[in-house]
Amino acid sequence: MDQGHESGMAPQGTDPFEILLVDDSPTVVRMFSDMLEGNGYRIRTAGDGREALQSIAKRRPDLVLLDVMMPELDGYEVCQTLRAQWGDYLPVLMITAPGDLAKSLDAGADDFISKPPEPTELIARVKSLLRIRALQKSLYDQHRQAECQNEQLQAQNQQLEAMSGQLQAQNQQLHEMATQLQILNQELQLLSVTDGLTMAYNHRYFQERLRSEVARARRHGETLACIMIDVDHFKGVNDRHGHLSGDEALVRLVEVLKAGVRREDLVARYGGEEFALLLPKTTAAQAQQLAERLRMAVEAENLKLANGGTLRFTISLGVSEYPAVGRERDASALIDVADKALFLAKQGGRNRVVVGTK
Ligand code: GH3
Ligand code: MG
Ligand code: MG
Repeated sequence: MDQGHESGMAPQGTDPFEILLVDDSPTVVRMFSDMLEGNGYRIRTAGDGREALQSIAKRRPDLVLLDVMMPELDGYEVCQTLRAQWGDYLPVLMITAPGDLAKSLDAGADDFISKPPEPTELIARVKSLLRIRALQKSLYDQHRQAECQNEQLQAQNQQLEAMSGQLQAQNQQLHEMATQLQILNQELQLLSVTDGLTMAYNHRYFQERLRSEVARARRHGETLACIMIDVDHFKGVNDRHGHLSGDEALVRLVEVLKAGVRREDLVARYGGEEFALLLPKTTAAQAQQLAERLRMAVEAENLKLANGGTLRFTISLGVSEYPAVGRERDASALIDVADKALFLAKQGGRNRVVVGTK
């Protein structure tokens, strides 16, 4: 026990213990007060049972020293009421005549002392009850503290859980945004190499691929074929059907070309109404067959126009191959030879395929 219990002091750092002295006799009150105050306790007094209950309701003392014989409410009744209200948390020391001992304890008193009290005995009883009271108090405080800590930990835990959930959601969002960005980038990339009207590859991309495909063919000793295509009398098509219908014809032409080639082949708009095909691992003979099939497919088309009319048109095609047997050729030679063949196809009457030789 700390030194507070040697006098009337409560545990260190707190106020002195306060005792409520309940007795209707001023003489007795003074006698008890003198003894207790002399030992460092603080004393509050009440002249009868009712006053005692009111006083306790206002502020709970650490101990009640309670006379039995009082007008109105006697000590037993007060003691019973206090037990009902406070349980074990308010020690009661009864001031009794020796014969009333059993009744006092029945009423719920923690201890008793006879009147007139012997000072040493009184202080000893009070001290012992207050020691228990101090222990109770400290246990109760510890319990409260533990409860508080528990509540704090629970709150922190909840916060952590909420934060963890938010983080997960943000992470998910980031992931989705990254995926969207990737898709957008791919679309942008595709747009930058695509012709906006026909959705064939554009001229710039054709030149890029032409160089890389020629390099690859050279590296692997493979053939690479090129077909140049030009719409026949397209000026006349525009004149008869209008420019918009001419556009529709170009869109349809690319659809037919794409449908006719392999996955690894490249369909590009070379410029205006001129298109170019790059056909990896393909010989001039194979390209000629393909060109003929494409020519016939276009010739067979009867395009239904948005304006309600119909439109038929034909194409001329020039074929070239890399490398021609026994000749050294580069990418531009591949285009030149195809171009010349195309020119010959036009000269020869259009709607035909010519395979270039030099
Ligand atoms: P040829 O058989 O000799 O090739 O005759 P052509 O009329 O096709 O040749 P020319 O080069 O004289 O005319 C090509 C026409 O193609 C002229 C141009 O207005 C048209 N043209 C080019 N690009 C487009 C386009 O994007 N849309 C439309 N509607 N017409 C285009
Ligand atoms: Mg032309
Ligand atoms: Mg033309």
